[in-house]
Amino acid sequence: MPLIAVAALVYAAALLAGLGGVLVPGVGLSAAAALWGAWAGRAAPAALAVLALAGVVSGASAARRTAVCGERLALARELTLLLEDDARPGVVVPARVRSGRCAARALVAVVEGRGAGGDVVVARGLFVPGARGGFVRHARLGARTGGVPLVALRTAARRAIDRAFGADAPLARALLIADTRTLPPELRDRFADAGLVHMLSISGLHVAIVAGAIQLVCLAARAPRRAAAVAAVAATAVYVAVIGAPAPAVRSGAMLAMAAAAQLAQRPTSPWAPVAVGAIVPMALDPATVRDLGFQLSVVGVAGLVASGALARRLLAPRWSGWRLTVGRELLASVVAAVVSLPLVAWSFGRVSLVAPVANLAAGPLVAVLQPTLFLALLLAPLPPLARFVAGAAHPLLAAFDLAARLAAAVPFAALHVAPTLAAAWLCGALSAALVLACVARHPGRPLVAGAAAVAALAWLPSLPTGSGTAELHMIDVGQGDALAVRTPRGRWLLFDAGGGWRTGDAGRATVVPYIRRRGGDVAAFVLSHPHLDHVGGAASVLRALRPAAYWDAAFAGGGDAYRASLALADTLGVPWRRVHPGDTLAADGVVVRFLAPDSVWTAALRDPNEASTVALVRFGAVRFLLVGDAERGEEGWLLRHAARELRADVLKVGHHGSRTSSSPAFLAAVRPRLALVSAGLGNSYGHPDAGVLAALAAAGADVVRSDVVGSAVVRTDGHAITLELNGLEWPLAPASVPASGASPPAPPRR
Ligand SMILES: [Zn+2]
Repeated sequence: MPLIAVAALVYAAALLAGLGGVLVPGVGLSAAAALWGAWAGRAAPAALAVLALAGVVSGASAARRTAVCGERLALARELTLLLEDDARPGVVVPARVRSGRCAARALVAVVEGRGAGGDVVVARGLFVPGARGGFVRHARLGARTGGVPLVALRTAARRAIDRAFGADAPLARALLIADTRTLPPELRDRFADAGLVHMLSISGLHVAIVAGAIQLVCLAARAPRRAAAVAAVAATAVYVAVIGAPAPAVRSGAMLAMAAAAQLAQRPTSPWAPVAVGAIVPMALDPATVRDLGFQLSVVGVAGLVASGALARRLLAPRWSGWRLTVGRELLASVVAAVVSLPLVAWSFGRVSLVAPVANLAAGPLVAVLQPTLFLALLLAPLPPLARFVAGAAHPLLAAFDLAARLAAAVPFAALHVAPTLAAAWLCGALSAALVLACVARHPGRPLVAGAAAVAALAWLPSLPTGSGTAELHMIDVGQGDALAVRTPRGRWLLFDAGGGWRTGDAGRATVVPYIRRRGGDVAAFVLSHPHLDHVGGAASVLRALRPAAYWDAAFAGGGDAYRASLALADTLGVPWRRVHPGDTLAADGVVVRFLAPDSVWTAALRDPNEASTVALVRFGAVRFLLVGDAERGEEGWLLRHAARELRADVLKVGHHGSRTSSSPAFLAAVRPRLALVSAGLGNSYGHPDAGVLAALAAAGADVVRSDVVGSAVVRTDGHAITLELNGLEWPLAPASVPASGASPPAPPRR
């Protein structure tokens, strides 16, 4: 491996350390290494150590800049927002926030005004700085003051895709503009099992395919080689810009441009040089890129491809030729790429796909035809009938792509469901780096020893204690349904509901189990709010995989099949079943759960399970979370009559996915939440959450966080202060009773 690739790796690790606040040890270590290299007369290690020093300092100063700007933005009376998606009251949209010379990424909770993606607007609102960005509370958008054409273009592309592709739009959005928000969870689930999930997020691969197709078309039209290469690079630049320049696409674009330049100058380079340049360019432009999963996956994937090429030249080329060599090379490439990206995939998707090499072999050629077709449909967007025609032609290809995933996922033992902890994922990362080195090194002995050391450390890891020292409430994004998880200071879990189920799977297996396993720790209790499928659908998977110490449930007569199956399974597994009564408590590591409802006298006369929802008040120190399942106004009335004094809570899991059947004014007045969590599926057919409920929550002074808009959310508390984490952005929750008028001066920032 040439020095430049090692340099990219060292720089990335140093940036991560600097961003993570490991400044003093990082600087000390790399300075010592640089001095030693200079003293011993070793130029290469000395240069790498200097690079590491630069990385640590650059990461730390980026983190410091973010912190200082966060405080300035928090004090600003008016903010300039560049909206990155269409904004309307009740949604949380990503945006870039500016005030004076400071800028930050943020999520904006809009309570008034509208704007289109790409618009620049002046807004009133409270910027709350966080560790990696911020949040704008109660944003009232003013008139449009300008626009950024590229962001507007991306939003327009999103709308054009929706118009042209109809039912295929979610998949087309993912493949074309890296927007995976509308993908149904079951589709994501089968692509993950099949080992094809990386094809759903925009990667260098898609960009390379589009560039290759353009080059082919130019060559077929008898254009000179040079002109074809230039045209491909230019078209790629436009494509990367239109899709919003995500890190993997920028990396791929930089690589292609460099390869084309080398070809034009007739200067062959090592294949590692473009990989390294493609990795370094986005990191140099924005140090925070190094934390982006798409960026990490695509760099690791390409590094795997280059390593497999070296291995194929050494192992296969001397023995095989013709079609056997081609197939062998492809299979080897997909195996090595799958193995080296395994820690990242296991970390983010909770599984290791065993059918991945074969599935990739089948899906690869399909994507090679599909991607240019989709791109053509997007190009033709200004001519809707033509765009629809091409989109129609892409339909069978999209169906075949999905079928490949379906078939591969249906193979027995297609995927192992795993969930590494952060430390385990780091060790696996070291293992895969060692494997890449072993593939390309002339003497693979040393890397293999390092790999063996990582395996040994992995075997020893489970004996370490886990735990965060704070209590957390996780709203796990399971689409339409509920799955709330409370994590105790010692890392144990209390799980409330398990998400929905569908014919071929369920949210428990697809989402909840990997989510919990990845973070480690036992499940001390599983609590079911009520036996509707969007809450109990994943229960059997949760019971089987996580073996909770107890199963709490209100025992409403007349639940469906999934409910009965979960009870039977709990019995088989020996998980004790407990019936919830008002006043029962459940305690774990300082977290106390008190059940407020349902009362058996109340439920006896009911026909609707929603109104018999288990209502739980979760307390840690002075902080209170209220989880109400799908309780509607009837049960809220019962609570107001029987437990009014206990309802006040800092965080409310809003009843019935934000439906207007719940959250009556009297109930909200009794709870007075500072934060309202709404768990609902994007574009669900029930119209959840209701606009009136959202307005009532905002008027009551609560920040509204919707899983359909922002995905999973984590509320963290030490028993006094509360922080909220969304999409990797974390910030403190403002103190109670912020006036809804937004007229008062903002609160001073808090660290
Ligand atoms: Zn429900």
